Amino acid sequence: MEEHRKDLLIIGAGPAGLGAAVYAYRAGLDFAITDKFSAGGQIITTEHIDNYPGFYEDISGYDLMQKITEHVRKFGIAIQEFCEIKSIKEKKSKSKIMKTTGLKQYICESEDKRFVTNTIIIATGAGPKKLGAENEEEFIGRGISFCATCDGALYRDMDIAVIGGGNAAIEEAIFLTKFASKVYIIHRRDELRASKRVQEKAFANTKIKFLLSSEILKFEGKDKIEYIALKNKKTNSTEKIKISGVFEYVGIVPNSSILSGMADMDANGFLITDKNLQTSAEGIFAAGDVRDTPLKQVITAVADGALAATSAEKYIAGFLNNVV
Ligand SMILES: Cc1cc2nc3c(=O)[nH]c(=O)nc-3n(C[C@H](O)[C@H](O)[C@H](O)COP(=O)(O)OP(=O)(O)OC[C@H]3O[C@@H](n4cnc5c(N)ncnc54)[C@H](O)[C@@H]3O)c2cc1C
Repeated sequence: MEEHRKDLLIIGAGPAGLGAAVYAYRAGLDFAITDKFSAGGQIITTEHIDNYPGFYEDISGYDLMQKITEHVRKFGIAIQEFCEIKSIKEKKSKSKIMKTTGLKQYICESEDKRFVTNTIIIATGAGPKKLGAENEEEFIGRGISFCATCDGALYRDMDIAVIGGGNAAIEEAIFLTKFASKVYIIHRRDELRASKRVQEKAFANTKIKFLLSSEILKFEGKDKIEYIALKNKKTNSTEKIKISGVFEYVGIVPNSSILSGMADMDANGFLITDKNLQTSAEGIFAAGDVRDTPLKQVITAVADGALAATSAEKYIAGFLNNVV
């Protein structure tokens, strides 16, 4: 196994991890950054971003992340792609380095690499939450998708549904009207959570039909989805709709299991951090969607990365509490 000794290991090369890399570089830290896939994070699956300052003209998530990744690579930072960190352990035996610095050491391992490091930034983000409706697992990849950019074009001239009422759901529904003949937006509440501007765009789109106060009970079909069974939560009535595809945007689940038993999490598994973004495990910081932050966006993830890297630097230097 290849061994690397570092001041800092950044796990995840999405917006939070890449933001951290820029600041770690500027702080002169000897660090590594890994991602289990290629760099970019979950935002590369979205077609249109207009809330990242400086990019007001049409930019896709993929293109925005290409720019951020290029920035990091221009500093000479090698992003270790397809390197999934599978375990984190505290190094128990006290080495010479530990005695002199007094810092804890952690061992993080992927399949073929071992990183021995004093600090870690967990920037592992989140993945899509599932509905939990009957037959859902069976139809994932056979009509159920979590990525409109990846799969939208498969539904040209068909009727499809988007589940959810937040910005991601409504923006992706608008995008899907490029292909589909009709897009149902199915949301369990009687009003949407998306921003007003996004809602207005959706209401003005004649291909979108809203089914509010409704939840999916069951997916049905032979080889692919053909029908969804819906329940209206106000009237308790049920109906069956013929549909070719369903795109789910009902929330996210954090990729935090790597720290199970090591750091405090909230009831949904998001990592709890202090004002310096340190978790309850000394020297381990969290940034972006994986932590219990109230706003989960690219801009907040990048900013978290900057703060986490700055805190890691102060921690290594022995004056973390002076971070303001
Ligand atoms: C459909 C959709 C539309 C969106 N639209 C917008 C928008 O318009 N504007 C906006 O600001 N935000 C938007 N968001 C939210 C935005 O994508 C997230 O807030 C942001 O990507 C969070 O960044 P992150 O770095 O914390 O996590 P992520 O982007 O999830 O990146 C985490 C990275 O960590 C890697 N990873 C995970 N586990 C490991 C491991 N064990 N080892 C190594 N690597 C690992 C993953 O492969 C991933 O690359 C949208 C999200 C979705 C799903």
